Amino acid sequence: MGQRAATTLAARASERRHIRLSYSSINTYETCPAKFKFQFEDRVPRSPSPALSFGDSLHRALHLFHNRPVPVAPSLEELHDMLEAVWVAEGFSSESEETMYREHGRQVLAQYHRESEATYKIPAALEHRFTIDVEGVEIAGVIDRMDRIPGGGYEIIDYKTNRRLPPQARIDTDLQLSVYHLAAKEVWGIEPERLTLYYLLPGQRMTTARTAADVDELRRRIGVVAERVAAGKFEPRQNPLCDWCEYQSLCPLFRHREDKREADPAPRMTEMVDEWISLKRTAREVYRRFDELNPMINAFADEHGYRRLFGTDGAAIDRRVQHITSPIEEKVRAILEPLGLWDSVLSIDTAKLNALIESRTLSPDVEDALLASREEVRTQHALYLREAERVKR
Ligand code: SF4
Repeated sequence: MGQRAATTLAARASERRHIRLSYSSINTYETCPAKFKFQFEDRVPRSPSPALSFGDSLHRALHLFHNRPVPVAPSLEELHDMLEAVWVAEGFSSESEETMYREHGRQVLAQYHRESEATYKIPAALEHRFTIDVEGVEIAGVIDRMDRIPGGGYEIIDYKTNRRLPPQARIDTDLQLSVYHLAAKEVWGIEPERLTLYYLLPGQRMTTARTAADVDELRRRIGVVAERVAAGKFEPRQNPLCDWCEYQSLCPLFRHREDKREADPAPRMTEMVDEWISLKRTAREVYRRFDELNPMINAFADEHGYRRLFGTDGAAIDRRVQHITSPIEEKVRAILEPLGLWDSVLSIDTAKLNALIESRTLSPDVEDALLASREEVRTQHALYLREAERVKR
């Protein structure tokens, strides 16, 4: 390794050393670096919400349920009393909303009790806080529970209060479980055989495991996020969760709406925005109707062998054959390469390159080099309609 490269690596390692992350902060960074900054760097206070209080209450009640010196499950009544004792009464908009959530919590725990009473045992670990060093980055977290499993081995269990089960593929790459796997290895020197997310609402477990290759991938992800944080890269990244983001009032994406809250800086422009939205909705309706009419018209013309279908004022629909083809790379290559023409049809896919840069999975050096490698031809903005019911705040 050259001296310069070694110096750069050493500098990066020292920058990372002051960074403390968790699975949740890494997840947040990968979703949106600006949100990460608001939440974990600036520590902007978050407002309590029914969902957060509900999840917190269930976690606390289950901690009490499993925190016993004897392998005998507390009764359902005791479990319900535990929920009452630890209930987090914050963030509810009314007493009736809180009562509804509390009743739901009791039902969820009743289902949990039914499923776990017979197999109840003393856990190997309960709400275990850990801090581990990964590539010079401090990774902190809390493991809800770890059980010994029959035949030896261990299972890490984390409770979830999502309504819907994710696909198994997402569990197989879930960042939280990868971090817990690594933590178990570092803290206790064991490799858990099972990593489980226990979805309390549907009452279902989803289980997976991790390999050495998964751990390498985790180390890479942590390294990339730590480097980007150290480099101060906190750009907002529009994503499907923006409509539920707690930091909308601070985000550039929502600045126009925030500015308008005081007083509309340009009412005439708001009229134009309204006009644009109205036209876009009409256009959508028009294309939706085209999609309905096209197959019926084509079917009729096919059946009767018509090339052109006439309306009442003389105008007609012209049908033209379109052959949609896609080149087969190996075949094209086999023809063009011997002729020395293969390079002439190769080009960089700009959309794929942009997607790679915007994926925030590259190290800052590589990302900066790729950004600098692009020549700006022109800047333009495509406009899309976003319906109001999705923008809640
Ligand atoms: S609204 Fe979207 S882009 Fe803005 S901070 Fe939140 S997640 Fe990021």
